[in-house]
Amino acid sequence: MICDNLSINSSGHLCFAGYDTVGLAQKYGTPLYLMDENKIRENMREYKTAFEKYFPKGSCPEYASKAFSCKQIYRIAKEEGLNIDVVSMGEIYTAFKAGYPMENCFFHGNNKTDKEIAFAMESGVGCIVADSEEELFAIEKIAAQKGITQKILLRVTPGIDTHTHEKISTGNVDSKFGIAIDTNQAKETVGKILKLKNIDFTGFHCHIGSQIFESEPFDLASELMFRFIKDIKNTYGYTPRILNLGGGFGVRYVESDPKISFTEKIADIAEILKKQSNAFQIEIPKIAMEPGRSIVADAGLTLYSVGSVKEITGYKNYVSIDGGMTDNPRYTLYQSPYTVILASRANEKTDFCATIAGRCCEEGDVIQENVMLPKPNRNDILAVLTTGAYNYSMASNYNRVPRPPVVMLNENGDYVAVKRETLEDVCVLDI
Ligand SMILES: *Cc1c(COP(=O)(O)O)cnc(C)c1O
Repeated sequence: MICDNLSINSSGHLCFAGYDTVGLAQKYGTPLYLMDENKIRENMREYKTAFEKYFPKGSCPEYASKAFSCKQIYRIAKEEGLNIDVVSMGEIYTAFKAGYPMENCFFHGNNKTDKEIAFAMESGVGCIVADSEEELFAIEKIAAQKGITQKILLRVTPGIDTHTHEKISTGNVDSKFGIAIDTNQAKETVGKILKLKNIDFTGFHCHIGSQIFESEPFDLASELMFRFIKDIKNTYGYTPRILNLGGGFGVRYVESDPKISFTEKIADIAEILKKQSNAFQIEIPKIAMEPGRSIVADAGLTLYSVGSVKEITGYKNYVSIDGGMTDNPRYTLYQSPYTVILASRANEKTDFCATIAGRCCEEGDVIQENVMLPKPNRNDILAVLTTGAYNYSMASNYNRVPRPPVVMLNENGDYVAVKRETLEDVCVLDI
């Protein structure tokens, strides 16, 4: 099994976090998102512990909550002592309502409106990660109106290609995020920031991409950032208190993906930082990183009921399920690989090749192609693994399909963290 929280019981049912998935499908209905609370905590603790061991005092991981956002995940992040990233008023509001300490919250996004900036300040957001000069001046103006000093980080693009899919690679010079170092624009912006009165300029941020397994892109980013920091110090006499290296560690969606140790990666990055620190004679600032996917992906799994099985003689087979791109748009968006298991007959021979099709009125509504399964029957339960990140958070109501609930599992039992949307919910805003 691709993750240690999966097993098969004596009835041949797939078990997740020790729970029989078929039993949970019967109890809650399908489609159903399951989240293994202990796995989330284990992932958070691994980051937290490694940060305390390898990085300068005061360094702390941030959970990038766009990967999976609901009140309960912010409560868990609070309990585990992680900082958080948010990217919208909706995420700020959810964290605030969950009682998350907002001073530990970092506000991202390539185009924050004045309204959002004011809302962030009013909600007590600790730090705004400024993405453009327009935004910096807006933050300065709004902070002055409110009579406060706002902490900021400046997001820069170090100019790295991370060999991953184009749509999830964000460290390039031509990215829509941040300000480019290569073109000298980032340096010019720093000069302007240092003149602003209502801004506390705490340091730099870069995020190079996602689903990264190698250490090399982080090595390269660290080197480029230290070179930049040295240049800034020489020009302006400014040194950052914080260096945020972004998120992006890869997770195992399929057997062929490697399993990486976050602790080892963080130890590697710490070595590189020491090397750069010596080379450029710059003290290592407090380090932040922003894992999203690698905190929640393997803590999640989605269950569906099989509807029809269509064998198109001489062409292909379709297994249709009661969910699809509305609860998991990632195959439709960027052909993301997933492991699919027939949860109700997980110990049977997988000799039937099928395309797993969603229920939406789009030919492209597919969860995965060329999946090997025992030939399913109507009402068999199908599990798609590693769906904890960018599934619930990307869900939609296309075709007016209500969103599935999120059920969390821990040693005390199963509980609803997000309720199933009802038909009333679907038209609650209609007049
Ligand atoms: C998406 C994103 C992250 C999280 O990336 P993962 O690949 O989920 O770890 C972190 N920081 C920023 C700025 C992001 O945009």
